[in-house]
Amino acid sequence: MAAKSSSAGKISEVREEAAAVKRRGSPVQPVMAAPPPAPSAPPASGAPAAAGNGKLSAEEREAQTALAAAALAEAMATRDLPAFYRVFRAGDLAILPPRYYSRDPRGLHAACFEILRRFGSISPAVGVAIFNHYAVSCTLSTFPLRNNATLASRRKALLASLIAGRTLVANTTSRVHSDKVESYGCVARHEGDGFHISGSAAYMSLATESELVLVFSQLEGEGFAIFMAPLRDNPAIQIGPFLFPNAMVDSDTRSVTFDCHITPENMLRVDRTIAAFQVAWHQALFPAPFLGAAARALEEARKFLRSVRAANDRPLAEADGVVADIGRLAIDYRAACAMVLQAGQAIEAVARRPSLPEFMDAYHLANAAKHFATRVAEEIVTAVRRIIGGRSLAGTHPMERISQEVMFGPLGGEINALIERRLGRLALGENEFLSHRW
Ligand SMILES: Cc1cc2nc3c(=O)[nH]c(=O)nc-3n(C[C@H](O)[C@H](O)[C@H](O)COP(=O)(O)OP(=O)(O)OC[C@H]3O[C@@H](n4cnc5c(N)ncnc54)[C@H](O)[C@@H]3O)c2cc1C
Repeated sequence: MAAKSSSAGKISEVREEAAAVKRRGSPVQPVMAAPPPAPSAPPASGAPAAAGNGKLSAEEREAQTALAAAALAEAMATRDLPAFYRVFRAGDLAILPPRYYSRDPRGLHAACFEILRRFGSISPAVGVAIFNHYAVSCTLSTFPLRNNATLASRRKALLASLIAGRTLVANTTSRVHSDKVESYGCVARHEGDGFHISGSAAYMSLATESELVLVFSQLEGEGFAIFMAPLRDNPAIQIGPFLFPNAMVDSDTRSVTFDCHITPENMLRVDRTIAAFQVAWHQALFPAPFLGAAARALEEARKFLRSVRAANDRPLAEADGVVADIGRLAIDYRAACAMVLQAGQAIEAVARRPSLPEFMDAYHLANAAKHFATRVAEEIVTAVRRIIGGRSLAGTHPMERISQEVMFGPLGGEINALIERRLGRLALGENEFLSHRW
């Protein structure tokens, strides 16, 4: 038993899980996972402290990431994604935000970025599904709560239940596609001592693998609020068909309909700081799976250019023009990663000094990073496809899936048209350009 609580013990448990997943048909139960608690029920008193129990070592995290990535590659080949999710839940990756990093937002961002980039290099769509869990659980784990003992104790209990249940969390802003932009499909009203939320949402990723959902919805006449509800076997929530039935199936993005009572402790009113902070986390992580796609494209370019020879019998990788072309793509890739990681630093600054300017700086930087990095990722994949040529789409070449999925980067997250206008208004406002934190 002692060995199981050590780092090596945990990694070997995850390894056993990964190996079991490879043995097809093996009835694997998640290691170390308690059965998921009913998430809407108040967590048991005396639940273990969720936060501040030290970090996972970088070595251990990397080993678990490598094992989960191997399980994902295997699951993609066998079309058995539940097997990947069993491995993901079995170790510490699913509970990184609440368990290990709640006092280190910058370290948490860098860790999640790295994991999502690895997953995205295998399947951008699965990366997007896991991104949603991380974005929500990072927000919950690190939002600076000062002088609010009630919320702090509710959060502590919620994080403890996420850890105990190895719970995955989906979210929806309840946007719908209508004849007017920025339309929301859900509304909540007071009902008894709680609330009733009804209506539909166009998008909810990780829809069938999550146990919990956070819904951002108007509370009629009172502004936005977040409502939390259990997803599994919940007749009050109908999960609909895939929104993207071909290219992005593995993100498990589905429409969803709510007709659901919510108890008061599962509602949180959204003020400007909560809105900015949760958007900052989402936009600062959303590019990661797509940068993973770009990294995979560059790796495929490397393999192609080193193995295929020009007419002079020298590998294409030795041609000066090719070296410069790939160098330019590598510079773009590095710049995009750096910008995303800087957004993680801005989130850290909020957690340390939660003033409105810090919240807004993190918000603007994360939005800009999402805009830039998802565009760069798509451009890199397009450039590499042209370098490799038609064989990049032949048979089971990894560039085919990556090409189809990377285009969803600029389409997802905060709408680019809105980000551009916000930043444009900031740049054209009354204050001098350099007075802003660029
Ligand atoms: C793969 C994927 C997974 C997703 N998963 C989730 C999820 O799990 N949960 C969730 O809540 N959301 C999810 N989303 C949705 C995402 O967060 C955005 O809400 C969504 O991408 C908005 O795009 P839209 O095309 O639906 O926007 P629409 O509102 O339909 O806008 C369409 C277009 O109109 C233009 N436009 C919109 N507003 C303006 C404006 N104010 N000014 C000028 N032009 C404008 C823009 O060109 C925009 O592209 C996901 C999206 C993708 C692509």
